[in-house]
Amino acid sequence: MNRIRLVFASSNPHKISEVTRIAGRDFVITGLDELGFHRDIPEPYHRLEKNALAKARFVHRHFGSDCFADDTGLEVDALGGAPGAASARYAGEEKDPGTNMEKLLRELSGKADRQARFRTVIALIWKGREYLFEGLVRGHIAETPAGEQGFGYDPVFIPLGYEVSFAQMDAAEKNSISHRRAAIDKMLNFLRAQSAP
Ligand code: IMP
Repeated sequence: MNRIRLVFASSNPHKISEVTRIAGRDFVITGLDELGFHRDIPEPYHRLEKNALAKARFVHRHFGSDCFADDTGLEVDALGGAPGAASARYAGEEKDPGTNMEKLLRELSGKADRQARFRTVIALIWKGREYLFEGLVRGHIAETPAGEQGFGYDPVFIPLGYEVSFAQMDAAEKNSISHRRAAIDKMLNFLRAQSAP
């Protein structure tokens, strides 16, 4: 099988190396920095699907190559799905994880229902056509943050079937069950099937 070449609409070195590692030798994944593109691509919408598609379309217009983009949000049932696509900026433009978590715990105080999920949407543009892939991990929001690993809301998110937060897991364990991993696997399996002889 010829190696599948894709541009990933991201400048985040952690995300790019995670996808590259999962994808393995059948794929060549290139991030935006490697292409000399250093601007932020806007994510103006309230829906993850629309943001992921907007970023993928932007990169496709710019480079003309097969590409994909992701958008992730924490969706909390008792808050009607908030913070959702606004997860990074929940408590303000500083995108500070500490104040975001404080706001989340404040909004949930006194609420019995603490169910939540992380949801990742990947938009792929492959041979000029658009595809969406979704990955989910269900869980609940802890009463207090715990753990030092990971990023974002990891210290307050306890995945279903576990008693520790994402931030108390090592990276390999979290990445093996994460929303992002599930969405990436779906996209890679789709591409493998498309490219099979
Ligand atoms: P992005 O779309 O991957 O940039 O994610 C948007 C925001 O969602 C991040 O800034 C974090 O606040 C939150 N987030 C996304 N993925 C995770 C995760 O795996 N753990 C904790 N927070 C996350």
